[in-house]
Amino acid sequence: MKITHLTKKRTKPKTYEVDVGSKKVRVTVPESDGHIDRSAARAAPAKDGQTAAEMYAERRRDIDRLLGFLGQELRKHETQAKADARNFGYAGDLYRLRSCLVEAVAGFRGVDIEDVELHLDGQADDLVLEADACPKCGERSTDSLVWQEEGETVHCTNCGTRYTPPSK
Ligand SMILES: [Zn+2]
Repeated sequence: MKITHLTKKRTKPKTYEVDVGSKKVRVTVPESDGHIDRSAARAAPAKDGQTAAEMYAERRRDIDRLLGFLGQELRKHETQAKADARNFGYAGDLYRLRSCLVEAVAGFRGVDIEDVELHLDGQADDLVLEADACPKCGERSTDSLVWQEEGETVHCTNCGTRYTPPSK
């Protein structure tokens, strides 16, 4: 197993505007530590007698199809962009799509957008933050620092130390 990041799993509170019929309502999603408590949802009644597993499977199918559509659209778009290679408009389209995807990945992982950007830059791929380095030998390589099953401690395979990274 490889650590992909040891960065803070903390997201800022976000405010959304939601359309409720004729008026707009502001909804603020509180600060989260990235660990969603699902115990309340476990007992919630199922919609139309649908089980949680069925609902999950249905949404998962939709997501797979959406990802498929996205792939198709990207291939079409790439062909158009190549045919009009000096037009920056196509790169502009990708900027918007990229922003949406970064936000989606950050939201689903429960991390900040900046963390996702760091991964895209490759800066977070190999080394953990200095603060998260092994306290005994200073190891920072993600290949040598392995999360333990409970996700609370990291095992440094370089020197054998187990520790809790401060940004956890
Ligand atoms: Zn170590």
